[in-house]
Amino acid sequence: MASYLARTARAAATHSAVRTLAPATTTAAATAANATAAKSANATIPAISSVVGRALSMRADLGSASSYDPKPFPSLTVSGAAPLEANGVFAESQVAYLDPHQDDLDELKVALEAANLGVVAHFYMDPELQGLLAGVDWDHIVVADSLVMGDAAVRQAEAGVSAIAVLGVDFMTESVRAIMDARGFEHIPVYRVAPQEIGCSLASSAEALAYQAWLQTAAKKDNSLHVVYINTSLLTKAQAQATVPTITCTSGNVVQTILQAFSQIPDLTVFYGPDTYMGENLRVLFKTVSEMPNEQIKALHPAHDQASVRSLLDRLEVFQQGMCVVHHMFGDSVVDDLQTHYPDALLTAHLEVPGGMFELANEAAVQGRGVVGSTANILNFIITRTKEAVAAGNEDKLQFVLGTEAGMVTPIVKSVQKELMGQDAVKVEIIFPVASEAVHVTGESVEEGLSIVPGVSGGEGCSAAGGCATCPFMKMNTLDGLIDVANAVSEPGEMDNSKLLESLLPQRRGMKVNGVLASTLGSQPILHMRHLMTTGKISDELINDVYSR
Ligand code: SF4
Repeated sequence: MASYLARTARAAATHSAVRTLAPATTTAAATAANATAAKSANATIPAISSVVGRALSMRADLGSASSYDPKPFPSLTVSGAAPLEANGVFAESQVAYLDPHQDDLDELKVALEAANLGVVAHFYMDPELQGLLAGVDWDHIVVADSLVMGDAAVRQAEAGVSAIAVLGVDFMTESVRAIMDARGFEHIPVYRVAPQEIGCSLASSAEALAYQAWLQTAAKKDNSLHVVYINTSLLTKAQAQATVPTITCTSGNVVQTILQAFSQIPDLTVFYGPDTYMGENLRVLFKTVSEMPNEQIKALHPAHDQASVRSLLDRLEVFQQGMCVVHHMFGDSVVDDLQTHYPDALLTAHLEVPGGMFELANEAAVQGRGVVGSTANILNFIITRTKEAVAAGNEDKLQFVLGTEAGMVTPIVKSVQKELMGQDAVKVEIIFPVASEAVHVTGESVEEGLSIVPGVSGGEGCSAAGGCATCPFMKMNTLDGLIDVANAVSEPGEMDNSKLLESLLPQRRGMKVNGVLASTLGSQPILHMRHLMTTGKISDELINDVYSR
């Protein structure tokens, strides 16, 4: 196995030599990401901004290039005929990662093939690793959002892989494990790729005592429903289900979940957690909806009108101590810079961003110039707008602000390159609202490694005022870790390998809540959500649970 230093030296050489990069062909991983995005976007329940945007019937504005002025944020410009253009050090790093060294690709392919290892990775994965996953010639790799990762692992198991490596945070590995168990693949091991715990600030906040106390309050109230964000552990979901009737939601379906629940259970109180920004953004969104004409509200949900939406606002409780550290970074100064320097840009934002950024992107969405929703909604919006611009056939430059974790850049660039291939009239600029100090200086010389890499190191270089849109937890997944897992799976008989693999199993498999496996009890809220997504209705089982506790 090539050493980390050798790899980083190769990456450094690429980094120093490459400022531009030719458009890449679409790889299996990028195709899978697109398929995933399309699947999520086509689910029964539409994205928030699409339903609000449709209801308001506002104009669609493709945006246009503004005349040049110094811009505070790095960006990447993709075109069909020209190489990728990087603006700023952060973007140059991303470009280098999108063009991995062939030796690294070969090493990864050999290791994955020998182990017959499937890989499921989250969109927020380290850009360097995503660049390799997108470039390697191996069929069993999927990059997706957390909801889809488990299903992707099942498909890989059906296709005959011997084991699955999960590149994400620990609750994602636990969820993949539970879904594999439920689908009859208990015999296929699922591994994390880092020996340390890979936490998540948001998931941790739902495991705190404060969350349990908040759920106890919910349990004491008649007709309570806990709507819990999917990005929490199975243990959280199990403990919640044991305390109060619970349904999971994603950032893409939460609005419809809440509207549907209130329509079927009129005297309901919804307790939403743990993401406080998302919960407060939902309150703003429902307030906006409550002021819309009734016919537009009915286009959102036929059972609702101004009075019913106003009434649900009084019965929507939001947990006040939950936060994703990444989305927290889209603070007020980011909003100010976006308004000042990118007035024509199309805005994308995850529903977890703070209020100022949410309101900016939501206003843009209402005007047909943006999207607020899940990672899949953001990717789908960018692809759709790019397709429309190419179909129009005019000279155009679309600017998209990426209001979520910067790891999304890899699937976005790969997808946009595919759409722009074979024409040169349309260009697409992806803007990263990260502060320049969100670039970490490693201390290595250019000869021996990467002297500068995007993202944080132990909190250094990350500014709440300026933004730092990379997840320090996701970045604990490394190429070395993945190759170590592959090598150990290839030769499990060696003592060191078996010890390593044992240490990389999901940590909390077998844990029980009230005598029931947490994986079983914690899956119930997910099954309730799947029922809603498939049928458009809250299940009778959940309604009975709400009324009978
Ligand atoms: S970006 Fe990181 S901290 Fe935020 S929810 Fe995802 S894993 Fe957790």
